[in-house]
Amino acid sequence: MKRLLAAAVMWALAAAGAVALGGANTPQPAAADVAATHVPSVAVAARAPAQVGAEPLVGAKNVILFVGDGMGVSTITAARILEGQMRGGTGEGNELSFERLPTVGLSRVFNWNFQVPDSAGAVTALLAGERTDRGLINVAHEATRGECATLAGNELTSWVMEAEALGLATGVVTTARLSHATPAGAYAVSVDRAFESDASLPAGCSQPDIARQLIEFPYGDGIDVALGGGRRAFTPTSAADPEDAGKTGLRKDGRNLANEWAARPGAEYVWNQAQFDAINPAQTDQLLGLFARSHMSYEHDRPGDQAGEPSLTEMTEKAIEILSRDTDGFVLVVEAGRIDHAHHGNNAYRALTETIELSNAVERTLEMVNLNETLVVVTADHSHGLTISGYPTRGNDILGLVDTVTGADGLPFTTLNYASGPEQYLKPDGSRIDLAAIDTTHPDFIQPSLVPGSGAAHTGEDVAIYAAGPRSRKFDRAMGQGKIGRLILNALRRFHGA
Ligand SMILES: [Zn+2]
Repeated sequence: MKRLLAAAVMWALAAAGAVALGGANTPQPAAADVAATHVPSVAVAARAPAQVGAEPLVGAKNVILFVGDGMGVSTITAARILEGQMRGGTGEGNELSFERLPTVGLSRVFNWNFQVPDSAGAVTALLAGERTDRGLINVAHEATRGECATLAGNELTSWVMEAEALGLATGVVTTARLSHATPAGAYAVSVDRAFESDASLPAGCSQPDIARQLIEFPYGDGIDVALGGGRRAFTPTSAADPEDAGKTGLRKDGRNLANEWAARPGAEYVWNQAQFDAINPAQTDQLLGLFARSHMSYEHDRPGDQAGEPSLTEMTEKAIEILSRDTDGFVLVVEAGRIDHAHHGNNAYRALTETIELSNAVERTLEMVNLNETLVVVTADHSHGLTISGYPTRGNDILGLVDTVTGADGLPFTTLNYASGPEQYLKPDGSRIDLAAIDTTHPDFIQPSLVPGSGAAHTGEDVAIYAAGPRSRKFDRAMGQGKIGRLILNALRRFHGA
């Protein structure tokens, strides 16, 4: 009896939290107002499961995981400010769509063998629930990177694999190559992230290459939706690329995996915007889109793409339209893959506009799904060394120079800087170049960095987790990155009775 009462109180408190925090699309009273006036009651508790953003005790029918590759907290802050300033405000008070999700946590991102992680080890934690070595995809750390003979017995299962085995619809969307580390985490098992096509496999390696694993996915009826870049790993050296003149596929086995996909009943393959737009989601069961020979364009550059490419938001929308036709439920992994690439080049403008496009994709998703049955999680695999420093006044251009103080050398400096990267803006004598002579707000500007390198290194601080939907409250704390994968799997199993 006492335990029952305690449970009722817990429910009531959970319900009160749900009212205070609510869903992304519901106008909410200020939290302080709720705290002052809302007395938790059994009546409220009884209504809790119906409320958007509440946490019913049932599991998740559907799961959508968004991964901002390289999207550290400072990236989210700067993107929020940039989006607000692009809309004509000062920016600091703006919110990206996923910042309005009711539950927030922190993820510890180290790899099994590295203090600062890479995307392969990180995605294994997010998808298979287990921390592993850098470079391994859904392979336990006991294996050795690049050594195919160490794979046997160390294979891990992603929750996308488990979902497909349970009869759910499955999808993966990315702006990077579909065979790149993060999207590969949905469907592949590989002792090296570099094994994207058979051309990269060592002689005698028994493991199929990553692109082949997407097409030959052995669970259920295979991956249902896969949209992104990376045609070259799916097409043979004999096939001229339809967009990049003079270039071909990479495959040495002569197979054209895109054509093999398209030959299946109910399956379509598209590689440009017009074909993508012509796809009727109500009549397409399986869709493969390979919109670039390698990575897709940055959102900023997309209008200039030769054959046209859909945005991350358009791909996410189409994927949900197709996958949600499966009445059993669906899972979808969406990667904003090029936040990371722009950061590697210290090009903050593109990193931030990629982040804003991820926010757009999440916003569209929240309009489409029912948070009473769909668990939505937004996180990053790792961070990048972007800092927001100086004492710029409120509303100062986030891409500009700090407007109140200079360095000790009397010269201005940018609000955004990186720990490492290609450009330090130093004269031969080691003194700094005067940045007042340079337009630091230009989309192509390379932000200054401390340590010289051909590209920026990842950073190892915690990244944020934002969540809504069934069992999303489980993400309301600091946790190891593998816990995210295990919580998602558990939410799926609870609903689907596995
Ligand atoms: Zn990276």
